[in-house]
Amino acid sequence: MKLFTAGPVEMFGSTKEIAGSQLPYFRTPEFSEIMLRSEGLVKKLSGAPKGSRAVFLTASGTGAMEASVINLFGTQDRLLVVAGGSFGERFAEICDRHRIEHETIRLEFGEILSGDHLVPYDGKGFTGMLINIHETSTGQLYDIGIVSDFCRKNGMILVVDAISSFLADDMDMMKSSVDAMIFSSQKVLALSPGLSGIVISERACERIEKAIPSSVYFDMRRYLKDMERGQPPFTPAVGTILEMDDMLQRIGRIGVRAQVERMKRTAEHFRERIPELDIELPGYPLSNALTPLLFKHGNALGVYERLRAEHGITLTPSGGPLRDRMLRVGHMGNITEDDQNDLIIRLGKVLE
Ligand SMILES: *Cc1c(COP(=O)(O)O)cnc(C)c1O
Repeated sequence: MKLFTAGPVEMFGSTKEIAGSQLPYFRTPEFSEIMLRSEGLVKKLSGAPKGSRAVFLTASGTGAMEASVINLFGTQDRLLVVAGGSFGERFAEICDRHRIEHETIRLEFGEILSGDHLVPYDGKGFTGMLINIHETSTGQLYDIGIVSDFCRKNGMILVVDAISSFLADDMDMMKSSVDAMIFSSQKVLALSPGLSGIVISERACERIEKAIPSSVYFDMRRYLKDMERGQPPFTPAVGTILEMDDMLQRIGRIGVRAQVERMKRTAEHFRERIPELDIELPGYPLSNALTPLLFKHGNALGVYERLRAEHGITLTPSGGPLRDRMLRVGHMGNITEDDQNDLIIRLGKVLE
């Protein structure tokens, strides 16, 4: 089965080898060294400003989203949430559950986030912004520039869920004044699921030091403190951390620019061939991580099922109102141009 999914994705050989090996004990200097090396690499690859820190959590991406919100904000805050799909709604749900005051900017399907959406909230005392820079449920990639200008102007803390965008699209924490950048193991890094991380700016670290979150497991003060010596407070996803160490070093060697270029070429190669098929692309900006396909005849789910059953290919199905209209094709992980050519041919056959 070939996965063109939003995670887990096709893993690389070296990752699979690590995943099949005996795990080491982790309260050791050797493991601390791995953790500190990973911290250094994620900071470098995300363009984190001086004084930033990174923490790793044994949780899928949603855990890191919740940890970011409850450690950076409290009852004195007022947040702005951009919700253009199910991951944006998840940020709103987290705020609801923890009783953090927030306004949600809801986008219709196909509506492109613009500066006009933010105007009504300018100078209104908002203290933070939560955004999924690539809203994976629709595939819209938001313009980080619009968001970061607004946050800078209003002195707001900017939290970016870059879970499906980190290492796929251009983003630089320093350039865009990002205070917390959230990523997760099963997306572009193409690792086992269950590990996520947050790169945190210096001023966001200061906020964390002052907060008392309503969670013991996700109390970031413990993570920051223990991470000073390269250790996690609780048993980490040891194997996934070893996978991450290997992958970050590989990407570190080619550099973030070459990595994003590679993702861009893969995505463009696929998109160039869409006109051959009876399929449309949405009109909004797209991430290099994934291509949403719109099926004109409401047959998306049928195509998904036939590709799985007859062709050994899994695309990413959509939920809710997009169920019959959209499938998403992931470009993350070990996907070659040949794999994509093969997918185009098979999609053509299924649509005949
Ligand atoms: C995958 C993803 C998440 C996290 O989902 P989990 O299932 O918790 O890993 C969050 N935000 C975005 C934008 C994602 O693509």
